[in-house]
Amino acid sequence: MSAGLTQAAYIVAALFFILSLAGLSKQESAKYGNYYGIAGMSIALVATIFGPESQGFVWIIIAMAIGGTIGIHYAKKVEMTEMPELVAILHSFVGLAAILVGYNSYLDAPKAATHAEHIIHLVEVFLGVFIGAVTFTGSVVAFGKLRGLVSSSPLNLPHKHKMNLAAVIVSAWLLTRFVEADGSLLALFVMTLIALAFGYHLVASIGGADMPVVVSMLNSYSGWAAAAAGFMLANDLLIVTGALVGSSGAILSYIMCKAMNRSFVSVIAGGFGQEVLVSSDVVHGEHRESSADEVAELLKNSKSVIITPGYGMAVAQAQYPVHEITEKLRAKGVNVRFGIHPVAGRLPGHMNVLLAEAKVPYDIVLEMDEINDDFEETDTVLVIGANDTVNPAAQEDPASPIAGMPVLEVWNAKNVIVFKRSMNTGYAGVQNPLFFKENTQMLFGDAKESVDAISKAL
Ligand code: NDP
Repeated sequence: MSAGLTQAAYIVAALFFILSLAGLSKQESAKYGNYYGIAGMSIALVATIFGPESQGFVWIIIAMAIGGTIGIHYAKKVEMTEMPELVAILHSFVGLAAILVGYNSYLDAPKAATHAEHIIHLVEVFLGVFIGAVTFTGSVVAFGKLRGLVSSSPLNLPHKHKMNLAAVIVSAWLLTRFVEADGSLLALFVMTLIALAFGYHLVASIGGADMPVVVSMLNSYSGWAAAAAGFMLANDLLIVTGALVGSSGAILSYIMCKAMNRSFVSVIAGGFGQEVLVSSDVVHGEHRESSADEVAELLKNSKSVIITPGYGMAVAQAQYPVHEITEKLRAKGVNVRFGIHPVAGRLPGHMNVLLAEAKVPYDIVLEMDEINDDFEETDTVLVIGANDTVNPAAQEDPASPIAGMPVLEVWNAKNVIVFKRSMNTGYAGVQNPLFFKENTQMLFGDAKESVDAISKAL
């Protein structure tokens, strides 16, 4: 394939990627967004493999066959609830790839025509390896936190912000040494070790409640790592794709920070500027329990019902029976709607995906801001496997780790039924005073079994 044709194919692929992002921004068009992405990536792969820069065709095919087989195996096996972990570990691969490309490009430097080009190449290598290393260890820690292998509470080392600042300053100094010494391997190597430790520390310092922002932030970093690799390989499509992923991830992080009332700078700087307050975190009181039959009776006598799902609905795969009871209640003339918190579940849009999968109509699925004022006029709220996203401590306890995070104000409704298996805390590890409120009743058990039982009783 000629260089001109490869470039033309790259432009077409880049357009498909832009269409893909546009499609993915709405539920209705998300499926087409995926198709555009697949088409763009297929064109990109063909153009790269058969392009003028590629050699060792057989090796590429062998590598793709091995990688593709592993990828298909895991993609088929992965549960919806494990998606964020998968995304986090995939980000780490991008980071690792950027490190390897960086070292390769350093060892096998292209013949630069001018001195300026040589300097630019050295800076590209250094920055590419730095971003890649931070992304790599940061993503591995995020994977560990999401999978429960690493504690979700923030690591609070003494002088943690000073350490982060020192890592950045020393790396900047090493960059000048690297360039001045015409590519000192020692400077590159020491910086790689610092960046690996920096990435680990940055993400380990962030608490469970801020993990959604961290995942999208690492998504952004992985994009910049890919763009850096694109510069080193002089591959325009990789630069464009990396920049698209990097900037869309950054925008998503910003939107999530706004939704959670968090400072963007503070979160990306490993919790910089956040005071460590000590919450009493002990909630006293007695909770009341209910049964599936009682809840069915309550629902039959309600005029308006709001369902607020959370991570537990995903674990239990309760979305199908939830759709069933929604239809049964709507057929009886009950006004049923859904209230979706922006960080409910474990990945952006998690609840929307599950409800769409179960064919719940989009028009009754509302965002938190659209529905929060309506709880006062609501007869019954079903909190299905949600915890942090309906926790009044966010408003009532300034020392709580989730203080300031907007939450679904379900306690304003006449009756609240909480579906969960125990009195355990949610992902942020914070006690929930909602469970002890006068108008709250607990329905213990697996959410799917409980909703199935209510559906039968209805
Ligand atoms: P939480 O994680 O706060 O709580 C989930 C609840 O579901 C738990 O209290 C658990 O209680 C219950 N549960 C688990 N399994 C079942 C089951 N089979 N049947 C019934 N109940 C079950 O959920 P939320 O959705 O309210 O909050 C999401 C949290 O995750 C937030 O802290 C958010 O910051 C964080 N997060 C979100 C991400 C995102 O992008 N959306 C990414 C990373 C983190 P019990 O064990 O007693 O059953």
